[in-house]
Parts: sequence; C-alpha cells; structure tokens
Amino acid sequence: MEQGPGKIRLIGLPTDSHSSFLRGAAQAPAAIRAALASDHSNTATESGLELGSDIIVEDLGDLPLTEGEGDFELIRNAASSPDVTIFLGGDHMVSYPIVAGLASVYGPLNILHFDAHPDIYADFEGDPLSHASPFARIMEKGLANRLIQVGIRTMNGHCRAQTERFGVEVIEMRDFAVDQVPIPDAPVYISIDLDALDPAFAPGVSHHEPGGLATRELISVLQRLRGPVIGADIVEYNPTRDINGMTATVAAKLVKEVASLIGRGS
Ligand code: MN
Ligand code: MN
Repeated sequence: MEQGPGKIRLIGLPTDSHSSFLRGAAQAPAAIRAALASDHSNTATESGLELGSDIIVEDLGDLPLTEGEGDFELIRNAASSPDVTIFLGGDHMVSYPIVAGLASVYGPLNILHFDAHPDIYADFEGDPLSHASPFARIMEKGLANRLIQVGIRTMNGHCRAQTERFGVEVIEMRDFAVDQVPIPDAPVYISIDLDALDPAFAPGVSHHEPGGLATRELISVLQRLRGPVIGADIVEYNPTRDINGMTATVAAKLVKEVASLIGRGS
C-alpha cells in the first residue's frame, strides 16, 4: 500500500519569562518560521524527503501564552495529542508541560536531550518552572523512562548528584562522539536547546558556552535514530543575540531534519 505524506504540526511557544539570565527567546518562533520560509534554501531534507510534498508541515501558529499561570495547561493540552508536533520555544521551561502532555498519551517517554546544561536543578532562584529545572520536574513526576543528555559541559556538583539520583544517561561534551550516544530502541522525544551547539555555530542563544557540538555532529546523532519520533522541541533561540540570522537558519535546518525523521515513519 502506498503511504501518503507524513503530517507534522508546528506550534510556536513565545515565552521567555522563566529564563534566568537574558530574555529574548519569546521572539524565536516568528524568526524560525521566517528562516524556514526563506528562499535561502530549498525544501529538501538530507534524507531526500521534501517538505510540502513528502512531508506536510501544518503550522498551527503560536499558542496565546500570557506568561501567567495558565500557560502550563495551554502547552500541556496542545501536547496531549497523538498528532506529532514540533514545538518552537521559547525558553526551555516549555519542555516540562510538553512532556507532561505527551506522557498522558504515551506513558513515560524516552527523551534525547541536547544542551550545554543538564537543566536539572532541584531549585533555581525559587522558580519551580525555571528553564534550569525542567528535567528535574520531568524526572520527579516519572514522566521519562530514559533521559539521555548530550552536549553537557556545565555539570556542577548539585546537578551531577541530581543526574545520578534520577539515573540520567549523560554524554558530557568532553567524552562526546557521535557513535557513543545511546539510541533507544523505542519511540523517542527530542528536545534541542540550541546552546548545545558551540556558540560559533549558534551565537543566538542567551547562554554562550564554548566547546560545544558542531551542527553536523548534532544532525549526525539525530540520523542514528531508527525508531519513531513522537515529538520534538527546539528551544532557547534568542534573536536579540543572533548574528545575521545564522542561528535562525540553524534552527530552521533542525526543524527540517527532525521533520524528516518523523515523516519517514518507522
Ligand atoms: Mn542550555
Ligand atoms: Mn536548556
């Protein structure tokens, strides 16, 4: 039987009130969409599948977030769907309600998380929804079966203790090799904090942390995935820190490559 085109939802989450250092990530969804629509590139992904013909990306626009208490439920409800969605942050807080929504559909998730930071502080400046803490909340609530963190290069004693407590599989940047990243033989959720990349590749982030991944390395890890991808977020793009929109272009490229993983099915 011939398969129709894969369908993917795109939802923007313009919020950055849980940032701990600089704001600006709320402006990311519009900038990433513009880079996706730009004539600088064509619609092909590296797999050969093309957006618009082989893979249909349905842009549902931005959620009407207010940076108030209702935002968590709005995001969680949007994620509580079997329709596969790529979410554009926003600061990294958004991953917690997204994973909570998806876990209500699928049960505990296998999460592949790219970041310079483990984002697993038990408490960061008194904000339980801080972008430094989403993976603490996710693990405390039992929303993840496996959490695999890649690109980490800011591990302090507290966060190391937290990752050990929760059984997180951490591939620190100093040990990184593409073929050393554990790949679950199961459905996967992907969370990409753009500061996982070296600031040379992605300067448009709030927290510059040298010594990070090359764009090629991150994509090569993604291309090792074999099972279904049940959703993804691309977060922490900060257009106010970007240079010539180069980080928006990286984010748009990652949208395409994640879409190709989803669209190929399993
Ligand atoms: Mn980060
Ligand atoms: Mn993060």
